[in-house]
Amino acid sequence: MNYQVQSEPCLHAEYERLLSDYEAYCAQGLSLDLSRGKPSAEQLDEVTAALVRLGSVSHLSRDGADCRNYGYPVGLPEMRAFWAELTGLPAENIVIGGNSSLQLMYDTVARAMLFGVADSPRPWCREKKIKFLCPTPGYDRHFAICEAFGIEMISVPLSEDGPDMDMVEALVASDDTVRGMWCVPKYSNPSGITYSDGVVRRLARMRTAAPDFRVFWDNAYIVHDLYDGGDALLDIYAEAVAAGNENRIFYYSSTSKITFPGSGVAMMAMSHENLVCTLPLWQTQTIGYDKMNQLRHLALLPNREAVMEMMRKHAEHLRPRFAMVKKVFEDTLADTGIAEWTHPHGGYFVTLSVLPGTAKRVYSLCRRAGVVLTAAGATHPYGMDPEDKILRIAPTYPSLSELGTALSVLSVVVRLAALERILA
Ligand code: PMP
Repeated sequence: MNYQVQSEPCLHAEYERLLSDYEAYCAQGLSLDLSRGKPSAEQLDEVTAALVRLGSVSHLSRDGADCRNYGYPVGLPEMRAFWAELTGLPAENIVIGGNSSLQLMYDTVARAMLFGVADSPRPWCREKKIKFLCPTPGYDRHFAICEAFGIEMISVPLSEDGPDMDMVEALVASDDTVRGMWCVPKYSNPSGITYSDGVVRRLARMRTAAPDFRVFWDNAYIVHDLYDGGDALLDIYAEAVAAGNENRIFYYSSTSKITFPGSGVAMMAMSHENLVCTLPLWQTQTIGYDKMNQLRHLALLPNREAVMEMMRKHAEHLRPRFAMVKKVFEDTLADTGIAEWTHPHGGYFVTLSVLPGTAKRVYSLCRRAGVVLTAAGATHPYGMDPEDKILRIAPTYPSLSELGTALSVLSVVVRLAALERILA
């Protein structure tokens, strides 16, 4: 039933029917979570089983160093080579962090605020204003870093092939307070899109008014394909080097959703000049991150092929979940004319667009029925979605049967909230 064209009596009848379905769900005392992009228990068990098969892992690095002791402040050479194979970046530009790439991003911004980056005339905290471009919908934790440091965020619309580059180029060329830009270039959180080659090239080449503008390239979903032959992403670092802009790129990734979130290995890559500026500060912060974890990861995943094999196993658990989202939305929302959703080829999220003005209502009605969603607005800087219509759906964590129930509740609520508005 297309809600936009139906007669009022029909819509009233539909509303009553949905309300009674909704009340029935509320009476069930559900407790379901679609809010965060976490691997399912089956995926974690898959990694655990592989670790158990592996048995004990040597504490010696490839060159014979005892990794139980201090040393290698920027990571084991073999771990840097591992990330070089995965990213296509030169190993000498890669440094290995701890268990979280988000921490590396936070630390990068903190260092920039306190000391500036290579090419900065002065520390960012001494500037009257610092602004970051935020492709939207985007990742709430990136926005939280900006908020923590008082960095002003400018939303840039994200479409199928990446951020609106005409807008990006105009902003960075005209405003020297724009010093950074967040990018999740592959299977973007939350829409699942991958930046096109043209977008990547323009980001690498564009002229910027600020001498120290930085792209925060958060390639968190670098190998997270749902299907064989996943999306291809152009190497932005190589493009930036070719354009003479290699200092522009701060590149991040981690094994959080390859092995264990919170217990993986994070990496960061940057140009030589950026390393010269960063490493003294990095080494003041730490004598070195967890090398035993690096060894464990290398024993489990010695090369790209081993990683891709692990990712194929993860995908077997993820595909049915994404297929269920598609099926429930297609079966129950496709004809209503009030909702649209993305069809990602990888990553951890689907973006659901509901009738403008109803996303917050959907969030709170779902919560009342025991289904937790990512808060409406979280996909936008300052938590403000001007149209109040974008919801991030994270289908990976619940079991299939829990997911089915949660999606049924969500679908009823999306229609109910739309009808409330249309009928009002
Ligand atoms: N970046 C993005 C885009 C993410 O979706 C996530 C996890 N939700 C992270 C970073 C966090 O990664 P890590 O565990 O390496 O800190």
